[in-house]
Amino acid sequence: MNKRGKVLIVSGSAGSGKSTVLTPFKGGKIDPFRFSVSATTRAPRPGEVDGKDYLFVTKERFEEMIEKGELIEHTTFNNNYYGTPKAPLESMIEDGQIVILEIEVDGAEQIMSLFNKEDLISVFLSPPDYTTLEARLRGRGTNTEEDIVDRLERAKVELEYSKLYGHILFNFDNRASDVTDAIVKITKGEDVSGFDIYCESADALIHKFYN
Ligand code: 5GP
Repeated sequence: MNKRGKVLIVSGSAGSGKSTVLTPFKGGKIDPFRFSVSATTRAPRPGEVDGKDYLFVTKERFEEMIEKGELIEHTTFNNNYYGTPKAPLESMIEDGQIVILEIEVDGAEQIMSLFNKEDLISVFLSPPDYTTLEARLRGRGTNTEEDIVDRLERAKVELEYSKLYGHILFNFDNRASDVTDAIVKITKGEDVSGFDIYCESADALIHKFYN
């Protein structure tokens, strides 16, 4: 029988570069990492594929998923629902995979309360500072001004939640592959505290972010 797998939560504000950092893991190309595909009621962005990037569902279908217990966690973000389907997550863990959940802090807190410490690895990813975050959000060009302001506000709140995570990493511009490497090392139980992208605590993160 396979060794039981693990859950790898990766959170970070919009603009933290989560998806770039996690791209190498997509499509099951790096064993034993697999991706949990979330359900959402938000509209697909250009290039996003249903069933791969997200399960794009209606509000009615999402509410049915909640009611039937099909989601292990869910939350509302920018007026849309997001949630993690339970059955695929459980079967990938049974199969011995490390399942990546790219989710925001509220959902992460729910997952942390459901899994044993030894079955769970958590990484909080942050842009190096506020100016970089704002530049990344505006540079993306696909969000409305209202959406950008909402995401900036939420990012400030999310920083406080970084204290719940086992590991905090900075994603400097053009350093995504270093973050990807550090995540792989963390999952192998290796020490990454000597890396310049490593942040020792939530307090240090908040201090560096605003200075
Ligand atoms: P986006 O709309 O930019 O794709 O995602 C918005 C936020 O929702 C991101 O912080 C993303 O990590 C988070 N998110 C995506 N899927 C889920 C999910 O299944 N559950 C929770 N709680 N958050 C999610």
